[in-house]
Amino acid sequence: MDHSAYAELLDLLEKAARLGEVQSLLHWDEQVNLPPDSRDARAAQSATVSDLLHRASTDPKIGSLLNRLEAERDSLPAEARAVVREARRDYDLLVRLPDDFAARKARLDSRAFHAWAEAREASDFARFAPWLEQQLEMAREQASHCGYSENPYDLMIDLHDPGMTAAAVEALFTPLRRELPELLERILASPVRPPEGIFRGFPVDRQRSFLEGVVTRMGFDYRRGRIDVSLHPFCSGRGTDIRMTTRFHPDNPLDSLFSSIHETGHGLYEQGLPAEPAGTALTINAGMAVHESQSRLWENQICRSRPAWAFFEPRFREAFPEQLARISSEDLYLAINAVSRNPIRVDADEVTYNLHIILRFDLERRLFAGKLAVRDLPEAWNESTRALLGMTPKNDAEGVLQDVHWSGGAFGYFPSYCLGNMIAAQLHLALRESLPNLDALLREGEFAPVLAWLRERVHRHARTLPLPELVRQASGRDLGPQALIDYLRDRYLPLYS
Ligand SMILES: [Zn+2]
Repeated sequence: MDHSAYAELLDLLEKAARLGEVQSLLHWDEQVNLPPDSRDARAAQSATVSDLLHRASTDPKIGSLLNRLEAERDSLPAEARAVVREARRDYDLLVRLPDDFAARKARLDSRAFHAWAEAREASDFARFAPWLEQQLEMAREQASHCGYSENPYDLMIDLHDPGMTAAAVEALFTPLRRELPELLERILASPVRPPEGIFRGFPVDRQRSFLEGVVTRMGFDYRRGRIDVSLHPFCSGRGTDIRMTTRFHPDNPLDSLFSSIHETGHGLYEQGLPAEPAGTALTINAGMAVHESQSRLWENQICRSRPAWAFFEPRFREAFPEQLARISSEDLYLAINAVSRNPIRVDADEVTYNLHIILRFDLERRLFAGKLAVRDLPEAWNESTRALLGMTPKNDAEGVLQDVHWSGGAFGYFPSYCLGNMIAAQLHLALRESLPNLDALLREGEFAPVLAWLRERVHRHARTLPLPELVRQASGRDLGPQALIDYLRDRYLPLYS
């Protein structure tokens, strides 16, 4: 192979990756530390770095190096072939856009975000509707430049999970549409109900030290990352420097605990990816669905399980003796695994969460197909909520305006959450096959074998394999909904019997 062309390509990809890291650090700082009157300066800094990043990612030298390397594809080692394949994909998606596209989109994103925040505050969809129209138009424009004018929504999905299409997602979602509403009805018909309003006055400093202990036990490396506080929890950065956030409520200690466990799942994945060569298929994550499978597996299958909670409960009681004195073990466990109808996706439990995703996927598909007008969206949203969840949102804030995604033009993102749940359920099955003593390990608080298994099966592959192949190799099964359906039944029917 042409070693000098390959080395030069790696240099250019690393340069773009480093600018991406700077951009994400600026964003983290904006959410965690930024003084209010410094926002304009930050917007200017972000725009400058975005512009540099776009130039670096669309450097014509990348295109010509890719041409040279592709001409000798057959003689490339497997690693180099994966690097070239993914670099080509990323390069083509960006280089086909007009020069001013990134700047126009950044301006629209920022204005649409503020319009959405105000509309949600006032619970008035009409204020946001013109911005959503513009975001849809922008997405269609992007799709037509990238060769997706016939099927723009497929591009939106592909941007988050390379290789996936709306039809493939629909095929995976169909069984869930049938099974989950029925499972929800059976759970809600049970005389067993999770207790409500039982948590009061959990001091924030003690919540913080408890969750830091849990995060350490999961294997998070604090020498390459940290946890801070922000309005909405998130995880950003790359393996060499992970920035996670959480939030604290004295009356809701489970929110900070389980959202931190979730974000730590994301952080552990990034810390488990190889470090070099930066910005290539050998070191970047495999897409949003796989990312979400890591956070969900830790949050749900592992840490909400009876054996893991048997380890955590005495420590939780030791941290909060007075607050938990009158709460029984079973009530505590039910609170951790509460299932209820909730109009808000981010507050939804494991069973109803997937229905929230199906609702958004349906509406996005109809919007892109021109079968649903933006002005009719609130009514369509409420209708779908009735059909899937058996309830009606009280207003737009609780319905169509609840999510931030559309304000940033992030269409096609929602399906990743549900695909991630499917992958997590399959990984959990395979993990149990590999570690027959998993429950005993969890009861002892031994999480290292779980992390080692994920490192070996998922993390080390980075983006070298297409999604279906990665899932097949890691879990021993084709990507499908059955493991998720079985897992939800096995976890929740005995609990709500
Ligand atoms: Zn997540």
